[in-house]
Amino acid sequence: MKHAYDILRNTFGYNEFRHHQADVIAALLAGRDVLTLMPTGGGKSLCYQIPALVRPGTGIVVSPLIALMQDQVDALCLLGIRAAFLNSSQDRAQQQQTETALLRGELDMLYVAPERLLTERMLGLLERVTVALFAIDEAHCVSQWGHDFRREYQQLYALHERFPTTPRIALTATADQRTRAEIIEQLKLHRAAVFINSFDRPNIRYTISDGQQSREQLWRFLQEEHPLDAGIVYCLSRKKVEETALWLQGKGRRALPYHAGLADATRRAHQQQFLREDGLIIVATIAFGMGIDKPNVRFVAHLSLPKSIEAYYQETGRAGRDGDPANAWMAYGLQDVITLRQFMHQSEAETHFKQIAHHKLEAMLGLCEMIGCRRQALLGYFGEVLATPCGNCDVCLQPPQTWDGTEAAQKALSCVYRTGQRFGVNYIIDVLLGKNDERLERNGHHRISTYGIGGEFDASEWRAIFRQLIARGFLDVDIEGYGALKIAEQSRALLRGELRLDLRKAIKIDKKKGRTPDPGASLRPGDNALFDALRVLRAQLAKEQGVPPYVIFHDATLREMINLRPRSAEQMRGISGIGATKLERYGERFMAEIAKHSPAA
Ligand code: ADP
Ligand code: ZN
Repeated sequence: MKHAYDILRNTFGYNEFRHHQADVIAALLAGRDVLTLMPTGGGKSLCYQIPALVRPGTGIVVSPLIALMQDQVDALCLLGIRAAFLNSSQDRAQQQQTETALLRGELDMLYVAPERLLTERMLGLLERVTVALFAIDEAHCVSQWGHDFRREYQQLYALHERFPTTPRIALTATADQRTRAEIIEQLKLHRAAVFINSFDRPNIRYTISDGQQSREQLWRFLQEEHPLDAGIVYCLSRKKVEETALWLQGKGRRALPYHAGLADATRRAHQQQFLREDGLIIVATIAFGMGIDKPNVRFVAHLSLPKSIEAYYQETGRAGRDGDPANAWMAYGLQDVITLRQFMHQSEAETHFKQIAHHKLEAMLGLCEMIGCRRQALLGYFGEVLATPCGNCDVCLQPPQTWDGTEAAQKALSCVYRTGQRFGVNYIIDVLLGKNDERLERNGHHRISTYGIGGEFDASEWRAIFRQLIARGFLDVDIEGYGALKIAEQSRALLRGELRLDLRKAIKIDKKKGRTPDPGASLRPGDNALFDALRVLRAQLAKEQGVPPYVIFHDATLREMINLRPRSAEQMRGISGIGATKLERYGERFMAEIAKHSPAA
């Protein structure tokens, strides 16, 4: 373990291990298998990187994301670590070169895509060298119950059979109890040491609002809280992604689309720009983001409802990996609920999977409509207890008001019933409002008892009521796909007057509350110029070396430099994030820049 601490300090430039890092590393050094669950940004990579360096041989890292391997490997090389990757993006000569280095024992770490690792050729190669350990990143991909299922991952148990004495570590940021059990089962990790960290991400503020005009709400949110920041906006469809990106560009923000329908090269280019430039917004379907480790993503915004709490937590988890304050913001509306419900029923999946998907959506809707602390509910979903409300979610900051919606609900439900449970929301609302409409008259619905009984609310208020009735399971959405509403079993009690139903009032988010501070906020006023100068220097170095700026130094490291104003390598060494290699490469230039801005001593 002493060796591990030396590497932490000298190579990575960090002073202490975080969470269970030390325990995980000790277990691997002792030759044990490990399963570790840590939230995004928790520091999973160190858990296998350090043992790969301490143990003899090469550490093999399995990752599903070949697009990111280059960056991961570049970042390691900047630390003076001998790392390489093998995937289908390389030509034969590059692959051969890497294989030769592997056979010569010149690699500390090798990143490989699962389908490549499992080829007979690759396994044969590995049998000829010393493998320090196998790290299986994004291990939840093994789970059919999870949302990122990858078939190749299920074959990874073969590693255990071929290399029975080589320790394996499986890592993931998202796993409920069931996924956890599946990872253990599928990868045959029954004897593994299991380390589970809290899933809480205290620096992320959760906000979920009902979005009737979600775009305008998004714009207000961006203007007020993130006028210059980088972030991700998630939409459900490709079309909405394209439209939203254009719309943001039209408003003067730098925004790029990302979805599976774009050419590979375009997608890669957009991802690269997002990683390398400051202040860019990516508008994406969920195809974007797994494994993205840009640490200074300041916000993740959802313009539509994620399919499950796991997906929501993983997507929002991409914000604030550097530990600075970040926002997870979402606006969702009635149409989301209807679309997702239909989508689920129409999918080709087997009934069993549909049921799972259905439960997951229910849980997600529950989170949206709840009246208690979001973080308590989120963590509760992952089996963790947070004793007191968090104080950093929309509900805690501005408790929603409720109103007795029993009568309104009864009207809505009887109108659905009287029209024969054959119509969608808009039609029902027209009946409630007593619209003069030909279709309505043709159906004879201008003569039924519920015609025109809903005049106390306008159409948008009725939509909010229906949204909650659907979300809370009082109304089902027709499986045939036309979106007809049907009375659900639990509505009977409500119709009979045996149940009181409290509904959420739509609330306006208080504008002044809870702005996320900008990255330079903790600096003294006179230091902003220096902060800017250091960022310019960092950008220049990053460009020279073809890596993202944060791979050189994080903002927090720059801030510490400004506060300490180091004048010697020795002082520079004390700063978190500066290891031996980076000190040697960049120390002088940063000290020179700092000296320019400091009064002569
Ligand atoms: P994860 O893969 O769990 O999302 P990473 O491994 O990318 O997280 O780590 C997140 C950030 O935290 C990285 O910038 C990493 O360098 C930093 N980090 C990891 N361990 C430590 C530590 N012990 N001390 C300080 N920073 C750390
Ligand atoms: Zn809260």
